[in-house]
Amino acid sequence: MTAEQYIGDSLERTNVFSLIVNIEDGKEVALDDLFNTDATFAKDLLGSIMKVYEKDEKVQKQIDEKTLVRAIEKQNWNIALKESHIHFYIATEQNDSQPFVELKVSLEQLKQHAKKDLTLTAKNEKSEKSKKAKPKKQQKEKKQPKKDTSKKYVALTFDDGPSPHVTPLILETLQEYDAKATFFMIGSRVEYYPSVAKQVADAGHEIANHSLWHPDLTKLSYKQIEAQFEETSNKLEQATGYKPSLIRPPYGAFDHDVEAFAEKGNYAIVLWTVDSLDWKAPNKQFVYDRVISGVNDGAIILMHDIHQVTADALPEIMETLVKEGYHFVTVSELLEILDEKKPGPIYGKM
Ligand code: ZN
Repeated sequence: MTAEQYIGDSLERTNVFSLIVNIEDGKEVALDDLFNTDATFAKDLLGSIMKVYEKDEKVQKQIDEKTLVRAIEKQNWNIALKESHIHFYIATEQNDSQPFVELKVSLEQLKQHAKKDLTLTAKNEKSEKSKKAKPKKQQKEKKQPKKDTSKKYVALTFDDGPSPHVTPLILETLQEYDAKATFFMIGSRVEYYPSVAKQVADAGHEIANHSLWHPDLTKLSYKQIEAQFEETSNKLEQATGYKPSLIRPPYGAFDHDVEAFAEKGNYAIVLWTVDSLDWKAPNKQFVYDRVISGVNDGAIILMHDIHQVTADALPEIMETLVKEGYHFVTVSELLEILDEKKPGPIYGKM
């Protein structure tokens, strides 16, 4: 698990926490469940890690040899098993912006110390991967019967902004296609970048509410949920002149309190049918494939106007959608077309 802390747009700090779980019994696995952790193991492990360290100049700049050796001797690390390697996350101590370094050692090198089930763990992880690849294909097949429909609608939505770097790029592309989209903004970011929020509203896009600082609302009380949305609503009104009528809970996580708040405030809870996964996309092709293989008439597409890769992928996504006969509408327009009533939750048409 990686936690990234942003101040404004810059990555301030990354923290890592790891947990190895045996998927057969759900139990946590420690290093000495995997290896016979005797003195020769410790010596070999230290040697293996140092070999990796000596080859990696980037890591050498982030942590000095003394600190590294001390951390290894004290086993002061987080470890993760990923296929054929064991990854060590070690605290740099002196470097605040880079609190951890990652060093990976191949399991092959430690094979003679391994307990029996180590190879099993690695194999399981691989079969898990091939299982995951299948649903993608099914999604592609699903879309085919829709091809001959003449009027099709899609709502593009952008979350987590505004961003002074990415949002203007998204606006440019939308303008090229004369398309309107919906921006679910975070209140604290609107406070930082009110002029970017205004730019979005002035271009005729729908402004919507994505909470004040993106917490998991299911962990908050009704009062706190109310504060998250109302403070954001006030900031949006101040910056853009518009009061949003749509809310989107962070992570799509909502409970009865969120529903009750939406009902009382006459808001619609808006989720999505297609998740672009742009926040973890390795390249623009990935974002393009996710959107194009998932889209259908009445879809709501989830993207984020804080990642460069999203801005890079958008022109080709829109080009293809236009060719396939889609019209771009805001979420509120789509809700009218679909005759969806508040407060939802509304996903769009599957
Ligand atoms: Zn979000």
